[in-house]
Amino acid sequence: MFPGFYLIQNDTINFYQVKMHNKENIKVLKFGGDCLKDASHIQKVTDIILSQKNFPIVIVSAIFGITDLLIDGITSAKDKEVNVSSTISILTEKHYEIAQDAIVNDSVLQTTIQDIVLLVKKVERLLYGVSYTEEDTDAIRAYITSFGERLAAVILAGVLEDKGIKSNIIETDKIGLITDEQYENATVDLKEFKVNFKPIAANILNDEAIPILTGFFGNTPKGKITTFGRNGSDYTAAVMAYGFDAPLLEIWKDIDGFMNADPKIVNNAEIIDHLSYFEVAELCYFGDRILHPLTIEPIAGLGIPVHMKNIFNPDSKGTIISPDAYIDEHIIKSVAYNPHIAMIRLHGSGIGYKAGIVTTIANALSAKNINIFATVSSQTCINLLIEMKDADESYDILKEYKGNIIERIDFQKDIALIAVVGEGVLKRKGILARVLEGVSKERINIEMASAGASEVAIYLIMSADDVDDAIRAIHKEFFG
Ligand code: ASP
Ligand code: MG
Repeated sequence: MFPGFYLIQNDTINFYQVKMHNKENIKVLKFGGDCLKDASHIQKVTDIILSQKNFPIVIVSAIFGITDLLIDGITSAKDKEVNVSSTISILTEKHYEIAQDAIVNDSVLQTTIQDIVLLVKKVERLLYGVSYTEEDTDAIRAYITSFGERLAAVILAGVLEDKGIKSNIIETDKIGLITDEQYENATVDLKEFKVNFKPIAANILNDEAIPILTGFFGNTPKGKITTFGRNGSDYTAAVMAYGFDAPLLEIWKDIDGFMNADPKIVNNAEIIDHLSYFEVAELCYFGDRILHPLTIEPIAGLGIPVHMKNIFNPDSKGTIISPDAYIDEHIIKSVAYNPHIAMIRLHGSGIGYKAGIVTTIANALSAKNINIFATVSSQTCINLLIEMKDADESYDILKEYKGNIIERIDFQKDIALIAVVGEGVLKRKGILARVLEGVSKERINIEMASAGASEVAIYLIMSADDVDDAIRAIHKEFFG
């Protein structure tokens, strides 16, 4: 029963429900797997949830390492049936251990363990299915990996209940989170979701229980589970912020936020206080992929700010991400990189003249689910940047197109792509020159540079061996 009060009016007693929360006094909080490593991490998470002044809408990832365990478990189940039991025992152990360490009350512990057992049983059956059929389709993988988040939600709910706090687990394949059919790289149909979610959101807001939503997955119109790819819970959190029209989204990790360079390379690297949506959208593709690349998309239209925070340092400012662009004194905000790139160069004097060649190539690769990281083209050459893991396959596919238009194909592995990101890089004069100068002082050969393709990023391509020196040089040039 929802809280409310009775009022006698004209001799009848009416019950008036109190609307407990509204969209102004909520906050969406997402906790990644790195916040859910063990009982002490989960303690921090519950402290943060309970210290909120606003009504918390909680999104969880799987416990640290569990998604990897499930993915490997699928592969090994396909290989040999006996492997299923070892996956299942590790899965069970990890969740039991955290539950036992974090939950004091015995009956709460027992119900939590029962819930864990039910979910693990399903995983076990699915893995035997993979083993018997020797089939692991992307739909099956998506379904099995979704259990990591379901299990994490059970643990968090148990720990909250242990502290006397009511919560409500909401599995995100039951809330109209409709996606396309790219099972392991799905995108949400935002319009449809908003319509489906409206009554559910109202129920959540009218309930005093804290909602715990599973990150990472949704479902197709036919009800099959789909996931959003690795780190997909960030995207779920953004979709929820959109669904609730929330004033703020907080993404909690075990680091303070985005940094102006990789601290493993630059020892005076610093946290970035403030980034714009555009800057973050670029940075999501680089470095440790601190956020899922689709995180900004659902919230961009509503201008919802994102606050990145560290569970071990909750008082630090972290990084604020907001729609407004600003150019700070250093002009650039971050030097990011991806060292696992290959470049395929398609040469041909007629390339600029022949319409449709880029489309043909892009279609050939996307038919095999290969993503082109970036392209840099001239009239006589198309350069494709492909992630290393897809490099050999891409080259094999594209070789087939050698003929009239494409005269020659070169293939180069171990290339690094550096992105110099900041709202000012195009708007201010001389930034590209400073970047190039900084790098060339180190006698590093820049194989290619691209400015203007993005308003907030300059790209440099070089040998992966040179990338650390180049990053230090650029960082020094702009940050001193
Ligand atoms: N558990 C999923 C992963 O490890 C999703 C996430 O963490 O956001 O990729
Ligand atoms: Mg994660």
